[in-house]
Amino acid sequence: MAKIGFIGLGNMGGPMAVNLVKAGHQVEVFDLSQSAIATVVEQGGVAASSANAAAKGKQYVITMLPAGKHVAGLYLGDNGLLSVVDDNTLMIDSSTIDAATARLVAEQAKKRGIPFIDAPVSGGVGGAVAGTLSFICGGEVDHFDHGKVVLEDMGKNIFHAGGVGAGQVAKICNNMLLSILMAGTSEALQMGIDNGLDPKVLSEIMLKSSGRNWCLELYNPVPNVMENVPSSNNYQGGFMVDLMLKDLGLAGEAAQLSKSATPLGTLARSLYTMHSRTGAGTKDFSSIVQMYQEKK
Ligand code: NAD
Repeated sequence: MAKIGFIGLGNMGGPMAVNLVKAGHQVEVFDLSQSAIATVVEQGGVAASSANAAAKGKQYVITMLPAGKHVAGLYLGDNGLLSVVDDNTLMIDSSTIDAATARLVAEQAKKRGIPFIDAPVSGGVGGAVAGTLSFICGGEVDHFDHGKVVLEDMGKNIFHAGGVGAGQVAKICNNMLLSILMAGTSEALQMGIDNGLDPKVLSEIMLKSSGRNWCLELYNPVPNVMENVPSSNNYQGGFMVDLMLKDLGLAGEAAQLSKSATPLGTLARSLYTMHSRTGAGTKDFSSIVQMYQEKK
């Protein structure tokens, strides 16, 4: 049993913190939203009055925040998390952010003798609830080994991608591919529907054919093809369009820095930008299929 501080209890962080409670850890939690705190407290978490209070005196601190600016804002500065945690507290940031911010936070942590790893996740809200996430970590090997012990209570696959920031790079490569797969899957399914096919039947066919992919398998974008996915719940919950857009922005920055050619990633970013501008920013990212539908 470890003493863990968990900060950021949104779609992902909430169920992740609950899994740590279920695994027998003592988990003190904080979020800017009182209702997010209450949901985890109902399941056995302990409410903290601030992020710093949640982090003080813990063996591990895990953060799950929207973007790099939230992470830098929380960790750094005179009053940041790094100013209150013990030297032996392992700081684990599971947010998806730019590698530069992850490296900056790690550097500041190191100056104070505090270990830090970036550990973004893949697997969506379903994976967070089921405790089957993939953690894609960057950092020193001994810090990774130390973190793995608790990450295993929230995930099934725990990867070490390389040094600090490597987890974030691997994560945006994955999400760029995911956005392309979701847009492509939506395009194919809608073309089938427009030509009179039943999307359930078409999905079954493609699942057993060479078009098979993660979206068809676990996250069908067409409503009522699958149960318990955002598309069958009015695109609520899941992974927001604007968060995917953030990741595609990070992928674009990384590609520019490394002079990598990413034409499909660039196109997916434009599609998601157009979709967000229709007011879909807070819907699940599988709602991109609506871009392909005829408006009646
Ligand atoms: P979310 O918006 O549902 O949750 C973020 C939470 O952070 C919110 O509850 C917010 O109140 C809280 N927060 C923000 N600033 C804070 C602060 N200073 N102190 C305390 N709490 C603060 O987002 P999410 O879907 O849970 O995603 C979190 C991260 O995980 C993002 O970086 C996202 O890109 C990544 N991610 C999401 C998914 C997914 O399917 N939703 C999958 C993989 C990775």
